[in-house]
Amino acid sequence: MLTTDTQFLYAELMDVVRLFGEDVPDLSHTFASEGDVFRNTVVVCGQTFRFEEKQPHDGALAFKRYAKRFAKLAVYRALEAVTGRSMPWGALTGIRPTKLAYAELAEGRPFEPLFEKFGVRPANIALVRDVLAAQCGIYAREEGAADLYAGIPFCPSKCNYCSFTTADITRTGKFVDGYLTALEGEIAACRGLFSRLRSAYVGGGTPLVLERGQLERVLRALAPLIPAGTEYTVEAGRPDVFTSEKLDLLRAYGVTRICVNPQSFCDATLARIGRRHTAEDIYRAYAMARGYGFDVNLDLIAGLTGESAEEFFASIDAALSLAPENITVHTLCLKKGAKLKEEEHFLAAEGVERMLAYARGKLYAAGYVPYYLYRQKYMAGNFENTGWCKPGKACVYNVDVMEETCDNLACGANAVTKKLFAGGARIERLGAPKDIPTYIAKAGEVAEKKRALFTGAGAFGKTL
Ligand code: SF4
Repeated sequence: MLTTDTQFLYAELMDVVRLFGEDVPDLSHTFASEGDVFRNTVVVCGQTFRFEEKQPHDGALAFKRYAKRFAKLAVYRALEAVTGRSMPWGALTGIRPTKLAYAELAEGRPFEPLFEKFGVRPANIALVRDVLAAQCGIYAREEGAADLYAGIPFCPSKCNYCSFTTADITRTGKFVDGYLTALEGEIAACRGLFSRLRSAYVGGGTPLVLERGQLERVLRALAPLIPAGTEYTVEAGRPDVFTSEKLDLLRAYGVTRICVNPQSFCDATLARIGRRHTAEDIYRAYAMARGYGFDVNLDLIAGLTGESAEEFFASIDAALSLAPENITVHTLCLKKGAKLKEEEHFLAAEGVERMLAYARGKLYAAGYVPYYLYRQKYMAGNFENTGWCKPGKACVYNVDVMEETCDNLACGANAVTKKLFAGGARIERLGAPKDIPTYIAKAGEVAEKKRALFTGAGAFGKTL
């Protein structure tokens, strides 16, 4: 249990406490400040830890930022001392370490000293450095520029670790036509809301689970908004839904990049997580996609149910043997909504750490570079998800979404539109309903609120 005498620090401190898992000892924290001096005292396991930092600051916002930063660091250092454990990302709990690095650089300081102070491991500092280098030429704040997203929340079956708002199409098929009509309307309402489109992305779910005619409705609705030559990704999804007629359609509508998401090349794992396809299907789907000249991303997950480190190593090797433009290595993250409950499965952190270390070594050796990364709460072992690319093949959409450098016009159930103000200093979000029938009923309202958000006409709510 955590107690603190400073309530505005509680949530941030709890994030640090959670890093150490369920069996973390009770801890009490007190905070005091005097001018530029920030004092934190942590009492845990009968020991008292005192920390003092001197940091000039100007104004209430900066004060709060530093107060949170030093308090988190104090609690982390105290827990590290009493448990003898350290975390891969130290006391950093935000989901986007690169944003913090960019913020330091914007202040004219190298980011490394702050990351070192937070206890981030050297390999992760190097990873951030490489991500920033790979984003060079893409990372840009561009007034009026936007990315466009359309979500298809249907899948052939539900994977046991999945917490996305997506459903087995055999149960939700009756909603598809209504959903597409609502989505078409929302997409059409995005016209005129941006001056330049940086990229487009059809995500899921599994967009290719739609029948050919249904898929074409989505592509046709998007077409007027996507100039030729724009990076255009379709998260084609699982190999069991690939057909040449659907891939023909993607090519005809100018799609440039597709995601084939095997997660594992181990048949036993695929069966265990609820997939209805084998590794052989992945190879077949990949070969089919290659024939169309798309850039391809392969997704893999470290820490899947019952999968050994060696099986994961084999998946990395298999993915590399195919030489796709992008490989994304996720760490299992169990959220509310996943069939698999957190307590039922957590591969020991060392297992995941070995997997990620193997993946990094192999990917670097094969010439890939990390180009975006993010972390999630409840992630196995407090690690990260990293997108890797062949040089020059970074996906603009992923960079933009992670770094939040331009507007995102997101359409569909549970899609979150983002609008930047004051050069990105403030971001307003507008979320659409998660539930498919509610989305269908409210899509018109979502579209209106989106227009109001982008044109400054009237008030808008953050979530419908
Ligand atoms: S993990 Fe992907 S394919 Fe599986 S249910 Fe979730 S969205 Fe669908």
